[in-house]
Amino acid sequence: MNPKKYSIIAGTGFFLIAYATFIPATQGLRDLRGDGLITLHNTHLNEMVTVQYRNANGSYDRKALKEINHILRCRQTNRERKIRVDLLEMVDQIQDHFEAAQVDVISGYRSKQLNEYLWIIGRKVSRNSPHMYGQAMDIRLPGVKTTLLRDYADHLNLKGGVGYYPSNQFVHVDVGMKRRW
Ligand SMILES: [Zn+2]
Repeated sequence: MNPKKYSIIAGTGFFLIAYATFIPATQGLRDLRGDGLITLHNTHLNEMVTVQYRNANGSYDRKALKEINHILRCRQTNRERKIRVDLLEMVDQIQDHFEAAQVDVISGYRSKQLNEYLWIIGRKVSRNSPHMYGQAMDIRLPGVKTTLLRDYADHLNLKGGVGYYPSNQFVHVDVGMKRRW
């Protein structure tokens, strides 16, 4: 085979594989073009991490994802859970869109115990919250109006949930069911 032709085919194959591994994780999200670099600040634990969780070829960095799982761990039990990459992609896109230095995360993963506790004391949490499955984050961006954050999340998140909490000034985003509140 003509080596030039072969390299074009091989190149296309590589592109298709990279494309295929990237796209299924992010179905249901519009205009996704985050740079794969994210800065998350856990406001309850006051811990921060900056990581390149997605490489230039579209693959995910396992070590970086573990660091993210750790920073977003349950504040009551310290337990960790795998955070969904499509959720990260959405939050990354939100950070980049507003050119925010960091994303303040009020709530990432919640153990069943913590979620049940919050429910019992009357906080506005669902008893089967997507936070218990690593599918949700409650976020705010320093210097960005929460209403703008909500509107942008609403635009971006075609299939998941977006909730607005004006009294606490944060926005809930999840990759569970499509809901708005
Ligand atoms: Zn939430």
